Amino acid sequence: MSKLSNKSLAAARPAVSGPRLNDVIERARTIFADRNLRFTDLRQQVFTEIASTNGAIGAYDILERLSVKGTRLAPISVYRSIDALLDAGVIHRLESKNAYFACRRHEHQSKGRPIFLSCERCGSVSEVAAQGVFDLINAIARESGFEPKVKFVEVSGVCPQCAKRADRDGTK
Ligand SMILES: [Zn+2]
Ligand SMILES: [Zn+2]
Repeated sequence: MSKLSNKSLAAARPAVSGPRLNDVIERARTIFADRNLRFTDLRQQVFTEIASTNGAIGAYDILERLSVKGTRLAPISVYRSIDALLDAGVIHRLESKNAYFACRRHEHQSKGRPIFLSCERCGSVSEVAAQGVFDLINAIARESGFEPKVKFVEVSGVCPQCAKRADRDGTK
């Protein structure tokens, strides 16, 4: 994985900002409060960096962005915050890119676990509830006497916006 291509992706992604970003941050704060966890300044800063992109962002990019804003941190501090955010369920980890993105839906409990849809053109990540996918994987693995521990399923491909753009430009 090259750092450079990640950076150019980050630049191409539409940023989330303004009232929408504030809503997302408030929602995360509520989730932390509901679980009796502390949404510390550092956790909020790290979450804000993650939530302000439509794609996924790596720990070192988070460090870099925070240091540009004047907050210099040790990598371990950022990793600890990331762990707390992951535990609270307000961010998820995209294994294939070793990067993190803000949870787009908050009904995982009621609608089942999501699969992650990761666009290979613009880097955006979305989630759709797909409990059946996990049930099927678990059933097939158990038939082979294997005890599965599937946490997440990632699907890479082309998002609707990029597909539309390709249609328009005639480049598929
Ligand atoms: Zn989610
Ligand atoms: Zn896309």
